[in-house]
Amino acid sequence: MLTDYRSFYLCGLAGINPIGVVQVIRDILTLRRALAGLPRPVGFVPTMGALHAGHLSLIRRARKDNPTVVVSIYLNPTQFNQPEDLETYPSDLQRDLTLLQDEKVDVVFAPSHEEMYPAGFQVDRRWWPGRLAEVLEGRFRPGHFEGVITIVRRLFEAVRPDRAYFGQKDYQQWRIIERMAGDLFPGLQVIGLPTVRDDDGLALSSRNVRLSPQGRRRAALLPKALSQAREAIEADVPIPQAVQQARQMLEAAGVQVEYLEAVDPLTLEPVVEGNCLLCAAVYVEGVRLIDNVLVEK
Ligand code: AMP
Repeated sequence: MLTDYRSFYLCGLAGINPIGVVQVIRDILTLRRALAGLPRPVGFVPTMGALHAGHLSLIRRARKDNPTVVVSIYLNPTQFNQPEDLETYPSDLQRDLTLLQDEKVDVVFAPSHEEMYPAGFQVDRRWWPGRLAEVLEGRFRPGHFEGVITIVRRLFEAVRPDRAYFGQKDYQQWRIIERMAGDLFPGLQVIGLPTVRDDDGLALSSRNVRLSPQGRRRAALLPKALSQAREAIEADVPIPQAVQQARQMLEAAGVQVEYLEAVDPLTLEPVVEGNCLLCAAVYVEGVRLIDNVLVEK
């Protein structure tokens, strides 16, 4: 198995694809040429690297569904609304490539910033989903979804996939991309897959590595609070009361709650009865964590 990143890279540059070796491609033209020779349907998994089992679950499903699998690794600066979050975001391309090789991914698209933003760091506002991107994360992370929409649109235009896979951990992102595909990429199927969690319930996230062992224990209260709220709602406790109890439990343990809301799973507007999605964003040791659970009544 190749473990030297330069070897991955050189194969990509030369357009060589020795059997079983993932191609690493840095520019759109080479990507288009490589994909022209590969069978459809093409399954695509966009990532920002620092891969974990959550990413791998998407990749494995893409591998199962499609003869060709493309994974992108691109740390997109425009979706980070806090500079220190971008600066401290983990990155280990060598390790990621070894994992992707093991998953038998056909093509890794790891573009440069110049390739993704040729005219400088500009956000593309031609398509906007309105309220869907303005509630929840949109309210607390100004500019975040503008950055996400810009990069995912650009990646879709470059890869032209038949299927694209997203994690429901980033539920709002998945819904926005699904709607964008419906409007701008007819025929592209957007598939949302369940959140992968650690044994303590904490949703896997590249940012979890920044937590101390103590912070990690506190972070695990987030999924606990959400699942307790779900059980309460299922046992007919009114939604606002269950939400309030979950918030109190987190705050009593020193977890800073940015939002904790019950929303309609389709529109993401607040609800007080019926099916709902419980969504939360919290801070533990300065690390921002998000999670959600679906409640079906
Ligand atoms: P990211 O690298 O954080 O941009 O994530 C890339 C994709 O992986 C997104 O579609 C995420 O929603 C998805 N993802 C991240 N964490 C998880 C997880 N714990 N379970 C499932 N999917 C995830």
